[in-house]
Amino acid sequence: MTFLNLGLCAPILQAIDELGYTTPTPIQKQAIPAIISGKDLIATAQTGTGKTAAFVLPILERFNQERKLRGKRIRALILTPTRELCVQVSNNIADYSKHLNLTTMAVYGGVDTAAQKKRLIEGVDILVATPGRLLDLAHQRALHFDELEVLVLDEADRMVDMGQGDEIRKIIDRLPASRQNLLFSATMSHDVRSIAEQFSDSKLAKPALEINVSPKDRSAPNIDQWLITVDKDTKSALLSHLIKEQQWEQTLIFIEKKHGAAKLVEQLAKRGIEAEAIHGDRSQAQREKILGDFRSGKLKYLVATGVAARGIDIGELSRVVNYDLPFKPEEYIHRIGRTGRAGAKGEAISFVAHGDFKNLCAIESRLDHLIERREIEGFPVRKVVPISILNYVRKSKPPAPKSAKHREKSKSKKSRNEARKASTNNDENRKNRDIWG
Ligand code: AMP
Repeated sequence: MTFLNLGLCAPILQAIDELGYTTPTPIQKQAIPAIISGKDLIATAQTGTGKTAAFVLPILERFNQERKLRGKRIRALILTPTRELCVQVSNNIADYSKHLNLTTMAVYGGVDTAAQKKRLIEGVDILVATPGRLLDLAHQRALHFDELEVLVLDEADRMVDMGQGDEIRKIIDRLPASRQNLLFSATMSHDVRSIAEQFSDSKLAKPALEINVSPKDRSAPNIDQWLITVDKDTKSALLSHLIKEQQWEQTLIFIEKKHGAAKLVEQLAKRGIEAEAIHGDRSQAQREKILGDFRSGKLKYLVATGVAARGIDIGELSRVVNYDLPFKPEEYIHRIGRTGRAGAKGEAISFVAHGDFKNLCAIESRLDHLIERREIEGFPVRKVVPISILNYVRKSKPPAPKSAKHREKSKSKKSRNEARKASTNNDENRKNRDIWG
């Protein structure tokens, strides 16, 4: 199938041809015709699947048919969790619509509102926004939603993770009931579902089309995932060694804490490796400069905290490193999804220290397979990381306090349970060791 079969007009086809897209990705094949026909959509799709074009192209197609725009009005609203993603999506729209007469704009926090308000006076066809700034502008009556036709929630699970759920609900409450709703999310948690349900409430029971292009338990097959067990204090030496020894090119390195990011950049510099860090304390201008250098290849090694890295879209990213393993399996899947995009081959390497054992169990259980372990000469580990238990379930909440009598009773029950669990885990570990020799 080609883009020609999807019902897109010539100026859009020309723009995507100029970008070198020849074949629609699976999500594009399913979503584009459905969105053009006016259907609501709930799509489970990770970044890297071509999801942005999957919703932008049909919106452009629909808006191009009928042009109308009044002052301070918007026709499509795309909500994104971060400013980087916001800018990225609006850049993509500019690329896809370059031969059309439609307007787009990104609004996000961290910069002055004056220029954004001025630009909104004439109205914008497609507005890409982070939820907080959008509400701010709406409160200041810098824009009105009464002519809104399409709402897109991009990376809905990230918005929920980042605590933007209430803001999204407030925004939805302000929108006209008759509109098209499109939701994209890498994972479909209970909270994301409840936002999707709020969608359908606003319409007269018109069921949304559901698409799933990233089956729940499988991460992308074109990503070579492997891990190295390592002691915490040798991580930076190991990273420098791998960068030099394996001649790594563009690499995105995920780290947990912002002060850790700055420290790692220093440690790499001492070994002659030039890296930069982005984290919450960096100004918008600094972040944009660093990201620009990283995208262009001028900067090869970028160290980022998980939150700062959200929304970074690098088309050709070949490698990610989990310098610190994420706590949530979903985060792991998001991170590795940044490589191996649109058919390219990617590599995802995780450094796993003894203290990461539970997180590793949760990730490998979610993937439903063990990640290949590789050993690097010269880096023996002192604290061995056991092989994971694949049916691991994390206890998310600590038990509620109990009465003294109850505590005594449950103590003996707990020790019986622990003994039973230890023997099951040993069996499981033995089984896993057999698989891996
Ligand atoms: P996304 O999932 O929207 O973040 O897109 C991931 C990357 O794939 C972006 O760099 C897009 O430019 C690229 N892309 C999207 N659709 C296609 C396509 N049909 N063919 C080739 N590349 C694509």
